[in-house]
Amino acid sequence: MANIDISVIVPFYNEEKNLEVLNEELVKVLSRLSINSEVIYVNDGSSDRSLEILQKEVEKDKKDNVQIKIVTFTKNFGQTAAVVAGIDNSRGELISFLDADLQNDPQDIPRFLDKMKEGYDAVFGWRKERKDATLRSLLSKIANRIISFVFSYPYHDVGCSARVVKKEYLKNLQLYGELHRIMPVLIYLKGAKIGEIVVKHRERYEGKSKYGFERIVKTLIDIITVKFLSSYGTRPAYVFGTFGLGSLFISGLALIGSAYKKLFLGVFVHKDPLFLIAIFFGLVGIQFIMMGLLAELQVRTYFESQNKPIYEVRNIEKY
Ligand code: UDP
Ligand code: MG
Repeated sequence: MANIDISVIVPFYNEEKNLEVLNEELVKVLSRLSINSEVIYVNDGSSDRSLEILQKEVEKDKKDNVQIKIVTFTKNFGQTAAVVAGIDNSRGELISFLDADLQNDPQDIPRFLDKMKEGYDAVFGWRKERKDATLRSLLSKIANRIISFVFSYPYHDVGCSARVVKKEYLKNLQLYGELHRIMPVLIYLKGAKIGEIVVKHRERYEGKSKYGFERIVKTLIDIITVKFLSSYGTRPAYVFGTFGLGSLFISGLALIGSAYKKLFLGVFVHKDPLFLIAIFFGLVGIQFIMMGLLAELQVRTYFESQNKPIYEVRNIEKY
């Protein structure tokens, strides 16, 4: 079979009103490119007529240089799982992502590819003019600011699904929960060279967004998790140990204070809240240090049992 240059991954869940137009637009754009491409639709357990409609549309609109694959889940596993299934089933050297709701414009794909030619490992989209509700756009802006701050991440729009990435940067990405949402950050943390282009963003005309405001909490938790794993994933005892030693230090101070009060001011410990504080921080400190040691054991099991390296090599040159 011919080499596939680019795989476009489209996860969908109950998008019956969008898939026909989407496939039409997508196939049109891809067939005009002078490369071989494939579209991988991942049907994330849709309960409406999405699959049926897509199957018909795909049959109708066949092109030589555009292969189509539909992966159907047994039930709704969520967008992250759908994205991973897309990656697992892809054959392209480049992987592109697109939402099925028509908010991204397939016309942007050639522009992504042009930008990639400048020598990037990944190019991310930036929805400079967003067509979402004001509150949503605002919250997304705040999330982007937080991410920029926490990860020193210099790009504008983490939440934009439209992007093109070299496949090697998607291997071992370990997407759990709803981590697809901050996938660009994960790619950035792998040390990829990243470009950015402004993409078109359209309103969602048909169907509903699958997420509500609960995504804010999840995103915040994801940011904390990814920050922890990326900075201390191989040495958790540093984090726990710092808190532990800090607590023990506070405990020590409080203990000295309460000893001073007993010896010089005649305040007995049962009347001295400082003594309670010393006990509290003492216990917390020991707990933290113990947890850190347990975490170290786990990390070692994780890396050593699977022979995982703690680094990633871009390439090795021999002379
Ligand atoms: N999606 C999915 N599984 C889910 C939820 C969403 O495959 O459980 C798909 C959905 O059909 C769409 C894309 O993921 O193609 C983005 O979802 P949506 O447009 O609802 O998210 P938003 O743009 O509101 O963030
Ligand atoms: Mg959408």
